[in-house]
Amino acid sequence: MLLKRWTLFDKAELIVLCNAVDRTYLSDRLPYPYTDADADWWLGMVELNEGKMGVFRAIVVDGKIIGSISVERSLEDPNEGEVGYMLLKEHWSKGIATEMVSQICGIAFRELLLDRIVAKVYESNVASIKVLEKNGFVCVQTLNNVTTKEGYTTILQVYSTQSLVGAQDIKQVDSSHAFTHTIIAGPCSVESEAQILATAQALAEIPEVKMLRGGIWKPRTRPAAFEGRGEEGLVWLREAKQTTGLPIITEVATPEHVELALKYDIDALWVGARTVVNPFSVQQLADTLKGIDIPVFIKNPVSPDLQLWIGAFERFQKAGVTRLVAIHRGFSYYKESPYRNFPMWEIPIELTQKLNVPIVTDVSHICGNRELLQATAQKALDLATDGLMIECHINPAEALTDAKQQITPDELKTLLAGLTFRSKSSSHVERDLANLRSEIDDIDNELLQLLARRMEVSAQIGEYKKRNNVTVVQMDRWKKILAEHVATGADLGLSPQLIDEVFEAIHQASIERQSSIMED
Ligand code: PEP
Ligand code: MN
Repeated sequence: MLLKRWTLFDKAELIVLCNAVDRTYLSDRLPYPYTDADADWWLGMVELNEGKMGVFRAIVVDGKIIGSISVERSLEDPNEGEVGYMLLKEHWSKGIATEMVSQICGIAFRELLLDRIVAKVYESNVASIKVLEKNGFVCVQTLNNVTTKEGYTTILQVYSTQSLVGAQDIKQVDSSHAFTHTIIAGPCSVESEAQILATAQALAEIPEVKMLRGGIWKPRTRPAAFEGRGEEGLVWLREAKQTTGLPIITEVATPEHVELALKYDIDALWVGARTVVNPFSVQQLADTLKGIDIPVFIKNPVSPDLQLWIGAFERFQKAGVTRLVAIHRGFSYYKESPYRNFPMWEIPIELTQKLNVPIVTDVSHICGNRELLQATAQKALDLATDGLMIECHINPAEALTDAKQQITPDELKTLLAGLTFRSKSSSHVERDLANLRSEIDDIDNELLQLLARRMEVSAQIGEYKKRNNVTVVQMDRWKKILAEHVATGADLGLSPQLIDEVFEAIHQASIERQSSIMED
């Protein structure tokens, strides 16, 4: 099942769909019989309003349009949208409706920047009510004595879902950008009163900075390293908030951390990458936060495991925490890479498509150095991140943790000035392309790493052949390998010519390398 945008070429299928669909629960807005002119009107309306007053999609299964789904912005309240759909009867009860409602809500929250989506259903429409409930909708209003188009009276229920978060918290309005992004900056660790105050004061001068970060308890790989200042650090962090007015965020990993953070007026919490990997710890934190209204930012787990990340959101959601934000900080990666944590952009993109959460990109922990920060931040913006987390220290050289990746507040100013902030609602094409290009870049990067590794192994073979007096080229072996590659390539839909050319070139480079080893 996939959702696709409507185009003028869909007219014939649209007419068939609208004439075939079961109308028991549909609004009377849909004319019958559904004519050519009705289809023209609808497709024109969609083109005019797409991405502004609504998001409209065709539901496609096996290449055929089997339904229609949309979220339209309410005229009375621009922060509210209403979802409506129709689906051919033979596709009911297969989970399609649940999946498409989930997808369209994700699209609508992102494109229309809504705070909530409502749905109106007749009480007797049990199947739709189930679909809504599975997607986190709850009944917020019951309207008695509503007359149906057939003329009998019944009960109409209004269901509503909220954008998980605080979309409002993270969507801060800043006149300098069409859509603004939340910048969270501050040191990796709160080290001393002087350090956090000086850093915070300099950051408060930068209008884009909306929140101050500072680690109080540091999860370190080895035990002898600096593990954070603990409670005294909270005193200084709160002082930084009081002097600058910036809200503060810190990492919590245990219930005691949560209690202390709340005691010192921390405004938001983040759960670190090493904590998110452990469902026991996440559950303990969620239990501790029951009934406490504080935004929780959830970093991705160190391992590239989307389900584990989603699971953490579910645990907090179940505990009643409503304002959840994702932080993408990259993933541990077994291959060599220019990043400290490999970004694997497709994972955070999939997360935001599945859950309606805003996402902040922690470029500092992705990069692990200062040099890659600018390009990585731009890439995150191109892929429609909602914010950036960047580690800043008044004197990075002296930092007790993550010295290599922290920048000064002045450097942050320069970095921000060099970024292009795109408007969220205006550039689907640009974003879709950036998304795909980023995937290509990652793949090319992997190809390069693999080629380098292959050459390395090939050189080792060269050394071995030299020591043992074996000839460089063993034609029989190579012909057999190439034939196998061509066959495997064909299974993968790759042309024999491509496989032949690519592997011949690789083989040739290998032979040259081995020959030069022989000659040494
Ligand atoms: C941090 O933000 O300083 C930190 C420890 O991050 P992570 O959990 O992403 O490693
Ligand atoms: Mn850090």
